[in-house]
Amino acid sequence: ETEVGRKPEWLKIKIQTNDQVNELKSMMRERKLNSVCEEAKCPNIHECWSNRTATFMILGKICTRACRFCAVTTGLPNELDLEEPGHVAQSVLDMGLKHVVITSVARDDLADEGSSVFAQTIRAVRELNPFTGIEVLIPDFGGRKELLQIVLEAKPDILNHNMETVARLSDQVRAKAKYPRSLQLLRNAKEIIPGQKTKSGIMLGLGETIDEIRQTMLDLREVDCNILTVGQYLQPTKKHLPIRKYYTPDEFKAIKVEGMAMGFSHVESGPMVRSSYHAHEQVKQAEMH
Ligand code: SF4
Ligand code: SF4
Repeated sequence: ETEVGRKPEWLKIKIQTNDQVNELKSMMRERKLNSVCEEAKCPNIHECWSNRTATFMILGKICTRACRFCAVTTGLPNELDLEEPGHVAQSVLDMGLKHVVITSVARDDLADEGSSVFAQTIRAVRELNPFTGIEVLIPDFGGRKELLQIVLEAKPDILNHNMETVARLSDQVRAKAKYPRSLQLLRNAKEIIPGQKTKSGIMLGLGETIDEIRQTMLDLREVDCNILTVGQYLQPTKKHLPIRKYYTPDEFKAIKVEGMAMGFSHVESGPMVRSSYHAHEQVKQAEMH
């Protein structure tokens, strides 16, 4: 229970599993790979993996940052696994993914903050899977444009970087990341590769107002961000930030309508929406625009 009471019905869904998902999980272990789907105990895993979408977490599973909403472990990072790009590529092939999301922990300890490994992974995945849509969900690379460029030169189909929350709450919610710096990253992406499709996401329920949500959406349109995801924040443990509000499915729908009117090519908005949820459909719709 939180200060806003019990979890509403629409958030109570059973985590399903089946042989196919279990088989894929053992494959991930054998190759020492991590997925957000598993690490974050994402309730959509059955749906996503059956629909041939998954989110790989590269560069280890220990993060150098400690955002107050995030379930990933903070600490001294893992040693780099030089075989990881090849293993991700092979797994995308074995899983028959139509769309893959590649993300990472923040690696503020590495000189290039992991940007070259992102680029290697994109290239390795494309080589083995020329028809798979590739989306990268990247950290802010300390705002360094040259590191963003390293990733973009490998030509991901979608460059995703989450704002996570509204401007006023940003410093409190995200360790080290800055609201203006994240907006600038999205703007820089369009400067480096004109026409690059960009995407961002926010979580609701951290104490933001509806006007602040609208302002964040307008800020994203201002830097020409194409795709937006909006989901309910859920507190991973008691040590994480409390939930201030549960938004209803209708409120999420209303936000989607407003977002589409602002000119996003796709808005995925709903209680269980995560950054990568229905990612494949998002690309298809973005391409139609
Ligand atoms: Fe994985 Fe994202 Fe789907 Fe969750 S929503 S199962 S993290 S791809
Ligand atoms: Fe979690 Fe990313 Fe923050 Fe690390 S940087 S704590 S992985 S949200």
